[in-house]
Amino acid sequence: MNSKYTLGIDIGGTTIKYGICSSAGKLTGQGAISTPATAPKQDILNKLNELVSDNLILAQKKNMTIAAIGIGTPGSVDIHRGYLMGGTPNFKHWRNVSISKFIMDRFDIPVFVDNDANLMAYGEFIYGAGKEKKDVICLTLGTGIGGGIIINGEIYRGSFFAGAELGHMTIHHAGQPCNCGGQGCLERYASATAVIEDYNRENPLNPVQGTRQIFQLAEQGDGLASDVIERFISYLAAGLANITNIFNPEMIILGGGVSEAGKPFIDRVYQACQKRAMPVSFKNVEIVGATLGNRAGILGAGAFALKRFNLAGKASQ
Ligand SMILES: [Zn+2]
Repeated sequence: MNSKYTLGIDIGGTTIKYGICSSAGKLTGQGAISTPATAPKQDILNKLNELVSDNLILAQKKNMTIAAIGIGTPGSVDIHRGYLMGGTPNFKHWRNVSISKFIMDRFDIPVFVDNDANLMAYGEFIYGAGKEKKDVICLTLGTGIGGGIIINGEIYRGSFFAGAELGHMTIHHAGQPCNCGGQGCLERYASATAVIEDYNRENPLNPVQGTRQIFQLAEQGDGLASDVIERFISYLAAGLANITNIFNPEMIILGGGVSEAGKPFIDRVYQACQKRAMPVSFKNVEIVGATLGNRAGILGAGAFALKRFNLAGKASQ
């Protein structure tokens, strides 16, 4: 039987990443273009169309048939219609968009759309750290915190496609205001942005640019950097303890630049979480780093498209 291919597209705040995915999780022609995040939605749609067109030509050259296209985008998505409802503060005009319809009007290929964090989690679940598991929670610590929930092998989205916003769980009831309209959300304390802000607030004359720098400074004996990391671990552990007590998953996967701090960091997070979570809920939970890096969103989009495509095929038989 021929391997089925899909085109996976991952729309992020700065770049749109893409690649042709095999069902075994191999990527061909992986690339990225800049996201016109503040431009009118038609500009983003035009970019998507160009990208699809280029990749269909590439696939043809390589004798690959693209069965379906999967797209991950920030925001809440009605996956049955491939319709982006909204909820994307960084993308000014990127809401109320019939993404699937727009692309399918031009190309005769089924298009399936979901939230980007859901598809990152799905990528790690199918091909990455969670591939032997059934119940997995994924948190991506970056500019914000994206969350994805996989229960019994299925992405959990809530009743109206707008759940799984794990970065917006309250961990400080009177805490800092958040872009989402809430207050004291996890992402205000444990995203890369929040950790960098924490350091720079106390050391404005020598500000850091990234979390990697903070970890390096801590290794060199910088007391402030150590304190900031300690606070970060404590906040993150509070969030993970909530997740553990509510979901009791088999595994929590931490992705994004912050998790590149490696196993010693994850071990500290594990220990801090162990102190907070209910022992019986926490007992068998594994906490691990993501393994696919920035390919997770592309591969997750590809796998999601393949799954939906196969389901659609069965339904029409
Ligand atoms: Zn929030």
